Amino acid sequence: MTALTKPQPDGTADPSSEHAPGASLHFPVIDWFDEHARDLPWRRPEAGAWGVMVSEFMLQQTPVNRVLPVYEQWLARWPRPADLAAEAPGEAVRAWGRLGYPRRALRLHGAAAAITERHGGDVPADHAQLLALPGIGEYTAAAVASFAYGQRHAVLDTNVRRVFARAVTGVQYPPNATTAAERRLARALLPEDEGTAARWAAASMELGALVCTAKNESCHRCPIAAQCAWRLADKPAHDGPPRRGQTYAGTDRQVRGRLLAVLRETHGPVPQAALDRVWQEPVQRARALDGLVADGLVEPLPGGLYRLPLT
Ligand code: SF4
Repeated sequence: MTALTKPQPDGTADPSSEHAPGASLHFPVIDWFDEHARDLPWRRPEAGAWGVMVSEFMLQQTPVNRVLPVYEQWLARWPRPADLAAEAPGEAVRAWGRLGYPRRALRLHGAAAAITERHGGDVPADHAQLLALPGIGEYTAAAVASFAYGQRHAVLDTNVRRVFARAVTGVQYPPNATTAAERRLARALLPEDEGTAARWAAASMELGALVCTAKNESCHRCPIAAQCAWRLADKPAHDGPPRRGQTYAGTDRQVRGRLLAVLRETHGPVPQAALDRVWQEPVQRARALDGLVADGLVEPLPGGLYRLPLT
């Protein structure tokens, strides 16, 4: 039995239904997805579970248009986890390019090594086994199990959280960090049927990415506008804590990015003097370099030389 409820012609829920809380949302969002989903390489069958996993690592903090070229090169070079595991972790950092937050490259390399050792090179389908891999958290385990293996899991990314906050909770933005209440809501909204739940996960995420965006939401194109709690309440302004900004210029992140760019573009050790040229302020520069070393992204060598990690 499924929890699906056909909506009324005006998009509202069938008042006679006795179904799961999100039942009236499922059909319109999934139907919309069937018509409007972007054709992205990790959604094609040939991507396989490894392609889905790579894409999830890359997409966590980077927009689709920047991920696409790096994803294609990555999968062409390392079509299976064992191919990546056989390379030095520094090669993963190099290939990560300018996606940002490069610790993700190291984590993906670590996950590939564990998949090769523990699972014969195949990305496991079991949620608990996925979660046990290094570098894989609740979100990625659920996303891979759902998108690659069609399982029933609540997949709560920023886009989904925003859609649920607006459509169901009736507020403009979700909390800064995912709460237990959001997880409970996401589980309560899951369709009972496994295949439908997997479609719902992908569809609600796409709705947040394309229609219910952080700024300038397009309610006139939204398949659940007639039942959206925030819209029906005349869109009350956000009254929670200030939302986290994404400043980059002048931050240690920017300095780290510049230092790593020099190391990525040089095959072999780099002298300190070459790194010193990327940022004038010496204290911040030293802090950024120390941070990269502490994170395992850069390996210091005798004689004031640095390189991407070999082990
Ligand atoms: S109606 Fe507008 S605010 Fe509500 S879910 Fe749709 S796009 Fe988002």
